[in-house]
Amino acid sequence: MMIEEVLNKESFSREDLIRLLSADETESLKIFNKAQQVRKEYVGNKVYFRGLIEYSNICSKNCFYCGIRSGNKNQSRYQLTNQEVIDAARYAHKNRFASIVIQSGERSSKKFIDTIEYLLKEIASLTNDELHVTLSLGEQSEETYKRWFNAGSQRYLLRIETSNPELYKKIHPDNSLHRFESRVENLKLLRNTGFMVGTGVMIGLPFQQIEDLADDLLFFRDFDIDMVGMGPYIEHKNTPLYQYKDQLLPLKERLQLSMKMVALLRIMMKDINIAATTAMQTIDPKGREKALLAGANVMMPNVTPLKYKENYLLYDNKPGTEDDAERGKVAMESDILNAGNEIGYGEWGDPQHFRRRVNR
Ligand code: SAH
Ligand code: SF4
Repeated sequence: MMIEEVLNKESFSREDLIRLLSADETESLKIFNKAQQVRKEYVGNKVYFRGLIEYSNICSKNCFYCGIRSGNKNQSRYQLTNQEVIDAARYAHKNRFASIVIQSGERSSKKFIDTIEYLLKEIASLTNDELHVTLSLGEQSEETYKRWFNAGSQRYLLRIETSNPELYKKIHPDNSLHRFESRVENLKLLRNTGFMVGTGVMIGLPFQQIEDLADDLLFFRDFDIDMVGMGPYIEHKNTPLYQYKDQLLPLKERLQLSMKMVALLRIMMKDINIAATTAMQTIDPKGREKALLAGANVMMPNVTPLKYKENYLLYDNKPGTEDDAERGKVAMESDILNAGNEIGYGEWGDPQHFRRRVNR
């Protein structure tokens, strides 16, 4: 079928998505154009900043793809002090980012949970509730989610990593800490707690098929997700999945496929927030800009203190580890303007999807 014919359908079937994800470069331009139109019409031209705080690389899990997995004994470990988190939040607030993301390796000790709760309350009071906080701290208990929600965070990011349970098994250890079913269950808990919920997947994983990516898009739609952050899988040499590096798609193709995923998701879920991810920038210096052109509307400038950045390496060759927050911010501002977009300074930029969903 001609690409236009598929693109103009009201809604995409699994077969349509497979056809679209297989589009060649010329056809892909048509997908990106359509995504741009949808984006302009439904969410406008603005891009929102989320200052990213990489809180700690200490993790109790052992995901086979990730450089900071507990099994990587070559990695030195750190955790920001409370003062460093508060300073980073202040920096974001002062620069009118309106919102930050606190991301970390997964831990569930009482001390960890209490500290996050304390930090959320501090940030809320120091910024007069003006700075919104997204958490990305892995799977936690319902009680913990409630405490953190009540302490002032509004959004939570928990990637499903892949919507294919078989593939999920291949990229995680086989134990109770790493279960596909609990990942899904946790997304539901987060939704019921009241969070705006974000998820996402890695694109170009070993053993992953185009069909899996089509199913990932359908998963986002069926779950009626509010926010998505997805990007290419990038290998890390101290991880078990590194042994499959020769079977992976070339980096350029992983980037191209990621852009198609972003664009198709924008067409399917018109009013959600979609992030331009660092992993896309890793493959191509223009990766973030390209993500915006494909329909993304959120960027995450890194505001982690410089001295820690080289220790939060989920994958090899992560860019920007030598840039301080100011340099990173300036680079993103110019990416946004180059892509013909505006910056939503001082605006929360909540996904319109969330408001529509809770009101219906
Ligand atoms: N520990 C939390 C948050 C930090 S990890 C969690 O796992 O939810 C954040 C994301 O980094 C993961 O969800 C995963 O999708 C991504 N990631 C990890 N290793 C990666 C790799 N090698 N390539 C690309 N993305 C990776
Ligand atoms: Fe830990 Fe998250 Fe990395 Fe898994 S992906 S090892 S949970 S930091």
